[in-house]
Amino acid sequence: MLFATDTATSLLSQLECSRCHAPYEAGVPHTVSACCAAPLLARYALEAAPPRSVLPGREATMWRYRELLPLHDDAHRVSLGEGMTPILTLDNLAARYGLRSLRLKDEGQNPTGSFKARGLSMAVSMARELGAAGCIIPTAGNAGVAMAAYCAKAGLPATVVMPRHTPVAFQEECRWYGADVQLVDGLINDCAARVRELNAAGQLLDVSTLKEPYRIEGKKTMGYELAEQGGWHLPDVILYPAGGGTGLIGIWKALREMQAIGWLPAEARLPRMVAVQAENCCPLVATLAGRQPNCQQYQGRPTIANGLAVPRPLGEALMLQVLAESSGTALAIGDEDMLTGMRELARLEGLFVAPEGAAVWMAARQLLATGWLRPDEELLLLNTGSAQKYLDNVLGRYAQ
Ligand SMILES: *Cc1c(COP(=O)(O)O)cnc(C)c1O
Ligand SMILES: [Zn+2]
Repeated sequence: MLFATDTATSLLSQLECSRCHAPYEAGVPHTVSACCAAPLLARYALEAAPPRSVLPGREATMWRYRELLPLHDDAHRVSLGEGMTPILTLDNLAARYGLRSLRLKDEGQNPTGSFKARGLSMAVSMARELGAAGCIIPTAGNAGVAMAAYCAKAGLPATVVMPRHTPVAFQEECRWYGADVQLVDGLINDCAARVRELNAAGQLLDVSTLKEPYRIEGKKTMGYELAEQGGWHLPDVILYPAGGGTGLIGIWKALREMQAIGWLPAEARLPRMVAVQAENCCPLVATLAGRQPNCQQYQGRPTIANGLAVPRPLGEALMLQVLAESSGTALAIGDEDMLTGMRELARLEGLFVAPEGAAVWMAARQLLATGWLRPDEELLLLNTGSAQKYLDNVLGRYAQ
């Protein structure tokens, strides 16, 4: 056999408009779909997927799922060891709140301290495969740091545009990786406007959330890992801090793909997906509650959870679809409550989680209080980042 299973690469077959399903050719650079200006999603020759028995013994990174990832040539892979983060059991919190099963996937243990590493490893690898001259990104912080690191590894120029109020650790780390850092007054949507100006000639690949089709393919590996690390048993509920929403959409895409290729039973009951936002910026919650037709006019304010300050996510419709299909919900948590959650996770579990991760725990508490969650359900929290870069936001707040 010319290609043994272990050297086989991507089964990517085409890209597809997420709104009207029009096909787009793989192997050439893309932004959003020309037909609907909607995100493009990667589609695979799923019938050719290997059995899940190929996985044990593969490397402990997200690249262990390479057939279901878009990169064609391994020589273009830009990796710092992302993925296969641990799933921790939060016994102390579970005991205090009377919960049967409370676990947390700690994405703060990724390179550069957040799950953004997964998406940017993939996007920068694809940038290299498709011959981009460099990358540019509007970011609330973590995505910019990850892009700068992976571009450094790939030898590609990087431009990172972030809000001026972003904690200095994010700005500095980007500069250490050699990126050109531009600061903008406002939130990530204002940064996106600056990116359009800076990249008017299109010389750089714009890796904004869901404006290119590959970051989500990196993020979806969280879904594959949740299933594999759980022994192919899924939790009842997954709580996720949603900004642009790539993780939420990606995890759901992974679960569906695994059903299609037989890694999960086609009739498996999938987890209810919960999108957690910040009170200061909760466009999804506002749309779901019928306070607005969609997020296009939503005005957000800064929050200590920088990654949740995304007032007009391009993937709103896709996120709402995930919540509908999974019988999920969305809710918002205030900054003070995030600090409470950070204190609880730090003191009871030894975890210094980003405010986004703390928001997810506080959302679980709120949903338990309203009865939407039952204490006997298996809960999985996604902590998307480490708190270490957020010190400007939380300095001294360990004391109540
Ligand atoms: C970016 C980010 C989020 C939001 O992720 P999306 O994929 O944009 O929804 C959540 N938490 C942290 C720590 C982040 O950096
Ligand atoms: Zn379309």
